[in-house]
Amino acid sequence: MQKQDNILTDTLGRKHNYLRISLTEKCNLRCTYCMPSEGVQLTPRQHLMNADEVYKIAKVFVANGVDKIRLTGGEPLVRKDFKEILKRLETLKTTLSITTNGILVDRFIDDFKTYGLKNINLSLDTLSKEKFHHITRRNQFDKAYNNMHLLIENGFKVKLNIVLIKGFNDNEIVNFIKLTKDLPVVIRFIEFMPFDGNNWNKSKLVTQNEILEQTTNYFGANELIKLENEKNFTSRDYKISGHRGEFGIISSVSNPFCDGCNRIRLTANGKVKNCLFSNNETDILTAFRNQESIEELIAKAIYKKLPVRGGMNSFEQLNDPKQHSNNRSMITIGG
Ligand code: SAM
Ligand code: SF4
Repeated sequence: MQKQDNILTDTLGRKHNYLRISLTEKCNLRCTYCMPSEGVQLTPRQHLMNADEVYKIAKVFVANGVDKIRLTGGEPLVRKDFKEILKRLETLKTTLSITTNGILVDRFIDDFKTYGLKNINLSLDTLSKEKFHHITRRNQFDKAYNNMHLLIENGFKVKLNIVLIKGFNDNEIVNFIKLTKDLPVVIRFIEFMPFDGNNWNKSKLVTQNEILEQTTNYFGANELIKLENEKNFTSRDYKISGHRGEFGIISSVSNPFCDGCNRIRLTANGKVKNCLFSNNETDILTAFRNQESIEELIAKAIYKKLPVRGGMNSFEQLNDPKQHSNNRSMITIGG
């Protein structure tokens, strides 16, 4: 193996300074696009990272250049020791953020403030109670919706994640963008991605063009403002003139952003995943428990990262179910 100057830089020169840590495979919702109807095989508890291991492994990544950590899952807030984990990670002085379904957020407002967690991505795929029940298989719309408002009122930077599925919620695009008129929130329309057991197919995708067409038809083409892409962008961003908030389109499937990818994922059972689409995983928890150095393993995982979508170079390859049926369900990866 060619020597890497930095263990987090891959063969294409992509620097991975953004670590997404999944804290759990469990969740208090059952979103159909994320969790197969038969559930998932949960990793036995003793094979999951404990709070101390999360901290110490994260510290190794930070020592090698990670400066941004996102906590995800499953639902990260269902972990009993969430506060303890947050408290310890705060000492690493990175930018801390979380992706949550929002159901338990009201219990953690003070902890988020105390430990400097300001950036919150909240997943809410519909503004209809009935549809929420249908997609999450749980009747918790009010909790999620009210907690979104609670976060905004408390000054958190809130991004709303919406997985768009043709025929299910694509008729709510304009209603979501209307939220940005008075709320300083960023709406992010995410393309439905294929994972094991989630009945994905290409016809369920809602394209960027369709989103923009609905937007301009309603608000008028002159009112749509294209914003500058952020560094290492995943989202193509826009706003409606005069609105407080913004919206973005994340086309991970049809128009991916692999060239500037700076993300690396650590699953709750201590495996490094170098790409969301890849089924290749590197166990670092076992080595860590054996008191071996994990840096070489991390370097190898980064070195193996493929240029585009974990090796699915063409959009057509995605149509082949064999290409993604070996990939874990999103619930056990950490989106
Ligand atoms: N439970 C938390 C939540 O829902 O925000 C965090 C974990 S969830 C796996 C992280 C993100 O992945 C969510 O925004 C969710 O909408 C997204 N996600 C899950 N399955 C997806 C899929 N098949 N396609 C696109 N996004 C997906
Ligand atoms: Fe749970 Fe989030 Fe997956 Fe929905 S998207 S089942 S809330 S982990």
